[in-house]
Amino acid sequence: MDKRKEFTSTAAMKKVMAAYFHELDEAARTGSRKIAWCTSVGPAELLRALGFLVYFPENHGAMLGATRLAKDCIPLANAAGYSPDICSYLTSDIGACLKGETPLSRAYPGIKSPPKPDVLVYNTNQCRDVQDWFAWYARKFKVPLLGVLTQRGVGEVTSTHIDSVAAQIAALVPELEKIAGRKLEPAKLKETVGLSLECSRLWRQVLETAAHVPSPLTFFDATIQMGPAVVLRGTEAAVTYYKTFLAELRTRIKDGVWAVEGEKYRLYWEGMPVWGKLRDLSDFFAGLKTCVAASTYCNSWIFEDLDPEDPFRSMARAYTGLFIVRSEEKKEEYIGEMVKKFGIDGLLFHDSKTCPNNSNSRYGMPERLQKELGLGTVTIFGDLNDLRCYSEEQSKTKIEAFIEQLEK
Ligand code: SF4
Repeated sequence: MDKRKEFTSTAAMKKVMAAYFHELDEAARTGSRKIAWCTSVGPAELLRALGFLVYFPENHGAMLGATRLAKDCIPLANAAGYSPDICSYLTSDIGACLKGETPLSRAYPGIKSPPKPDVLVYNTNQCRDVQDWFAWYARKFKVPLLGVLTQRGVGEVTSTHIDSVAAQIAALVPELEKIAGRKLEPAKLKETVGLSLECSRLWRQVLETAAHVPSPLTFFDATIQMGPAVVLRGTEAAVTYYKTFLAELRTRIKDGVWAVEGEKYRLYWEGMPVWGKLRDLSDFFAGLKTCVAASTYCNSWIFEDLDPEDPFRSMARAYTGLFIVRSEEKKEEYIGEMVKKFGIDGLLFHDSKTCPNNSNSRYGMPERLQKELGLGTVTIFGDLNDLRCYSEEQSKTKIEAFIEQLEK
């Protein structure tokens, strides 16, 4: 059976991630550094510039999904009044807290729980769930909850959007300075924004190695390799890691080492990963000689609008320009560009039950793209973390039939 090929760099990535979590854990235990919890597109650069260590609950949610601990945690959040229909990162994570469970303990011996926050900072550019999720912790830990409210369904990103978001980020500064116990140094902010930009550029280059036909990398590899881009943007550690990983990918291309042996078809994955089935799906597609070469999800950690010379406005532009924030037209344009860039043969939409925000198959987009791009599409029904919503047999049958159609 065809299996995922491991990367040599992964050992270095595991070290980087372990150092990140152990540093947070030590700070939480000793009080040596302040800790901010941040949503994936919250103002992480600003928090780091103020000296906070930054923790991302969505990453913890993904770990709960990937380790399948989510299934035992979600019911506890449901019992506390958080519906099974809302974000299963939220319900997994709050459930895990209620249960006293964390995958961090298994991955990093010595860590007993996620690090307690001194402040929680969200951005609603992705969804409202993050605000409610953080509000639960703000009540539990009695710590301040701060946030940025961003418009959704944005067509062109205009100066009105940027003015609003940049002003909200700037308004966080005095509050955060009080909690951090220090003033924001502009030079430090410039540095973290610069590092975040560098990380974004490297991450883009990593993902774009998959434009090579055949590809050295799949979507499933990228979901594993994206850890540092998610939790360490704005740091040297992330930049150093992606230089190493990019070099390995380029060597793979030079040596003719491909992610899917005998690659015949190339798909685009639109929507959330099914975290508890990553390896299974990776092997399944490899068996079908199909490379899932690109995705919206992994590209969502590219923030190339960042500009160290104009940190607040460029953060606002980078956070608002993301796919998830945009109108249907802009999303379709983006997917059209990705199809060309990556030589895609077909589009797979994952309709993720508990994340309408990252499910784009519900308002006719597959049908419109099929017409515009002349490509086949298939929609599978599942979820990011709640495997009760994922019918494996039905999804695989649909995918196999779809690949057969491509063959014809
Ligand atoms: S975008 Fe989806 S998966 Fe992410 S936090 Fe919001 S609802 Fe959850």
